[in-house]
Amino acid sequence: MKENYEAVIGLEVHAQMLTRTKAYSNDVNEYGARPNTNISAVSLGHPGTLPRMNKKTIEYAIKLGLALNCEIAEHQYFARKNYFYPDLPKGYQITQDTTPICTNGHIDLKMKDQKVKHVGITRIHMEEDSGKSIHDVDVHDSLVDLNRAGTPLLEIVTEPDLRSGDEAYTYLTEIRQLVRYLDICDGNMEEGSLRCDANVSVRKRGAEAFGTKVEVKNMNSIRNVQRAINYEIERQIEMVENQEEIAQETRSFDAVNMRTISMRTKEAANDYRYFPEPDLQPLHVTQEDVESVRKAMPVLPNALFEIYTSSLNLSEYDASNIIASKPMAMYFEALRLHTSNYKAAANWMNGEVRSYLNQQGKTIEEFPLEPQQIAELIELIDEGVISNSLATQKVFPKMLEKTSASARTIAEENNLIQDSDEDSIASTVEDVLKQHQDEVDRYRNGERQLVGFFMGQVMKKSGGKVDPKAANKMIRKKLEA
Ligand code: ADP
Ligand code: MG
Repeated sequence: MKENYEAVIGLEVHAQMLTRTKAYSNDVNEYGARPNTNISAVSLGHPGTLPRMNKKTIEYAIKLGLALNCEIAEHQYFARKNYFYPDLPKGYQITQDTTPICTNGHIDLKMKDQKVKHVGITRIHMEEDSGKSIHDVDVHDSLVDLNRAGTPLLEIVTEPDLRSGDEAYTYLTEIRQLVRYLDICDGNMEEGSLRCDANVSVRKRGAEAFGTKVEVKNMNSIRNVQRAINYEIERQIEMVENQEEIAQETRSFDAVNMRTISMRTKEAANDYRYFPEPDLQPLHVTQEDVESVRKAMPVLPNALFEIYTSSLNLSEYDASNIIASKPMAMYFEALRLHTSNYKAAANWMNGEVRSYLNQQGKTIEEFPLEPQQIAELIELIDEGVISNSLATQKVFPKMLEKTSASARTIAEENNLIQDSDEDSIASTVEDVLKQHQDEVDRYRNGERQLVGFFMGQVMKKSGGKVDPKAANKMIRKKLEA
């Protein structure tokens, strides 16, 4: 029955911009400050105060618009969206109604099955956040914190192009990665600096007309957006199957019970009575403005992926793992200037370095070793000076304890330099064979797999310092002599 239906999904994302001050005042824009301390007459909406445009927000909007292949509007004005709410002291929100700064963009999602999913971006506009009503701190009263009032937001609206919770998940992951690379939003869904409303409808497969859409809010993680959408798709299909009518409504995601519940129906919808904001001048963005932002664009994840998989020959898996976090990618960018063994560099980043960070609960910015030090370690392995296993088990951990010493010094001080001297390997192998005469006989009677046993013994005897390839060759040579 499910196979006969298709879901249609459009997402509205709000991203809080990482500007120092708010959208239309000098109030500090920061998360987690004591309630009602980052406020002034402007964010409190006192009569007679005037908003003043924060230029940084325009630059950030253009940055995102360019990254999402949008057209940037030359002439824009701001609008007032009127509604009453205790955390909106002005009684209206300043937004862009009919003239969004960015339109007609798109993003191409790389899906797990290697397919590319094209998603249209209808618009991106600038607006301001409201304050915050807090209902779960005081037993008797609702509290209002106006620190967030006037925080600059970008709202990113997609075309109804998405078809599954999976696609929505991938879209949000890429949008979050993008805003982080652009350094315009911290992308933290738990703290609400990135929020997503999902519009979901279902239709019979093959049908052209869309079904009635339901808007779902209050998901505090990308995973929960996916869950809410999946729940909603099932609920709606069941309703259609039972010939029930789907109400156009807003629903809230309940993360405890993993379901959506009705908040309000469209009949009760607000009429916002938009009109042009008379206190802000119309905005004129010139071609030069756009070009100067374009020139200053940082490197984006797509471009890095292209370089890593083609020029550096990394696997798509390795490349995406590094690129997933911008600070990780920036570390790798520095590392690759000091080594040409990119594969090894990626292995170190995704392997030992990552597990150290996970164990210590640290971020790569707190990683104590310089990229040059990792590059030197890779070089020592490539030159056969230390074995790969001693490098990971002994040298790397000791480098982390004594971060000022070079990899070579550590290897020398701890007597970890690999033995590739033929005479010395030969004598270790001979010792081992003498001590295990039984196994030698069995080997000579055809139990060839015993070579692994001898390798183990040789490694043990040498403290792991013998070059394994040379040791393997020597063992066979002596056994077959
Ligand atoms: P509204 O006026 O209710 O906000 P919009 O037309 O602005 O609706 O669309 C809001 C979001 O809903 C957009 O992301 C859009 O792609 C999506 N959307 C519109 N119609 C549908 C539908 N029938 N099913 C799912 N999503 C839809
Ligand atoms: Mg809308």
